[in-house]
Amino acid sequence: MYSSTLLGRLTELLAPDGYIERSESELRYPSRVLTDGAEVMRIAPSPTGFVHIGTIYAGFINERIAHQTNGIFILRIEDTDKKREVEGSSEMIIKALSDFGLNYDEGPNTTAKYGPYFQSQRSKIYLGYVLDLLRSGRAYPCFATPEELQTAVKDQQTKKLRPGYYGDWALWRDKSEAEINAALDKSLPFVLRLRSNGLHSKRIVYNDVFKGKMEVPQNDLDVPLLKSDEQRLPTYHLAHVVDDYLMGTTKVFRSEEWLPSTALHIEIAEALNLPDLTYGHFAPISIIDSAGGGKRKLSKRKDKEADIQFWLAAGYPIEGIKAYLLGLANSNFEDWWRNNPSEPLDHYTVSLEKLAASRAPLLDMQKLEDYCKDFIANLPQDQFEKRLLEFSEKAGWTRFVDEVASDIVYSNNVFAIERSGDKPRKDISRWDQAYDQYGYFFDSLFEDNFRKQGRSEFLSDLDEATIFGAAQAFLATYDPTDDQVAWFDKVKAAAESVGFAIDNKAYKADPSLFRGNVADFARILRVLTTGKNRTPDLWTIMQAMGVSRIRSRLSN
Ligand code: GLU
Repeated sequence: MYSSTLLGRLTELLAPDGYIERSESELRYPSRVLTDGAEVMRIAPSPTGFVHIGTIYAGFINERIAHQTNGIFILRIEDTDKKREVEGSSEMIIKALSDFGLNYDEGPNTTAKYGPYFQSQRSKIYLGYVLDLLRSGRAYPCFATPEELQTAVKDQQTKKLRPGYYGDWALWRDKSEAEINAALDKSLPFVLRLRSNGLHSKRIVYNDVFKGKMEVPQNDLDVPLLKSDEQRLPTYHLAHVVDDYLMGTTKVFRSEEWLPSTALHIEIAEALNLPDLTYGHFAPISIIDSAGGGKRKLSKRKDKEADIQFWLAAGYPIEGIKAYLLGLANSNFEDWWRNNPSEPLDHYTVSLEKLAASRAPLLDMQKLEDYCKDFIANLPQDQFEKRLLEFSEKAGWTRFVDEVASDIVYSNNVFAIERSGDKPRKDISRWDQAYDQYGYFFDSLFEDNFRKQGRSEFLSDLDEATIFGAAQAFLATYDPTDDQVAWFDKVKAAAESVGFAIDNKAYKADPSLFRGNVADFARILRVLTTGKNRTPDLWTIMQAMGVSRIRSRLSN
């Protein structure tokens, strides 16, 4: 234990602007009064760049558990690593949570009393705890230079020893006060390290909510608790333990990558005489490597899907994403959703057992798209149009928006095509596909973006005379009052009149006798009308477009 002179000197250096005694913090943040079974859950992202879909995944899990138990959901921004912090990313996290409908009860911009919720604003609180460790002999200053630390690691490598700052490798652990004072006299930079009591040869046992009974080597690393930077911010290890204690987190559910540090976190809590935190480590989202590397964790660098901006820019409906992610977390979610298609997702109760069983949740974009398609297909018509237009505005589809506004009745008809009935159309999984599915209905967009492209892409096998002849033959008998059956009879008659086969057997027997078959004839009409070769039913489209528009498109 250090003398009061040395403690005074270190305190002066570590906390020149003062600190909050831990007893004071503990009074300021009293234990919460919770109803039976209520859980206090949090996510604690670091603002180090784009927002990872894993943060949203953790968000949905923690938010549901908090709210399904009438508990509290907290957002804490872990911004103590100033070197890795990227400007603007805290704001991005806050915006992302709002975009994904993850409403936190406590966090930035709330008046909740367990804040502040930015760790960088809590440095005086951490100092109080760290000084407590210094006084009790469970922390010490370390003046080792980066070069000394590197040399030690190299030495450990050559000797085939476990790397790290522990035991005899902990250079400053047993230095005398005189040596520490001498270093302080020279104003050498230092960090504050945990004095670990653990032994690697011994094991600790604890219970992980998802992994069950864990038996792992004790921590024996004297990890830094406070960094050497001017602000004296703590490392994640210390800050997380202090915060989750003071904020009254009832369960720390975080991604598996923190599993190896848990023995350390347990030791820090024990050194501070804090009650044990309850941990649950869930598997992060994985993906099949497109280069053939099998299943691997979704990578910040390699996978565009890791960045939520990808999801938002494409306009995947949030509910579709949420449903899919809940399905990754809980294998029984899908059944629930199928049986309760119009129930809000927040009525689903997340199961911890199922989450424990979800050992390598695999991102399957095809399946996710199907979820989103179903969701969009089932949206009530007014919701569908509202969301479509919101996205169009956001995406900057100015002309699309203007065209819609200039003829609301027409647009409403167009947007309603094949959306009702037992089998609503399912050709959109993200709103950015809507331009392609609806743009051609509007004349100026058809002219600029669909007409020419469609002809060169889908009719290049036919000569101009054939295309023109087919269109004229159709128009000669076209009557917008015909029902679907009468319309198709006329299509066939028109096809036959200009040399297309209406009997497929005859066509197959000798195609050279014909210009094509009825399908080719219909393709001409479809492409001339829409610029596309796959659309909803052509008769329905023509009904919506109206006779003069049809005539004009087919005559051009
Ligand atoms: N700041 C840590 C991270 O972003 C938090 C982990 C946690 O405790 O949830 O990975």
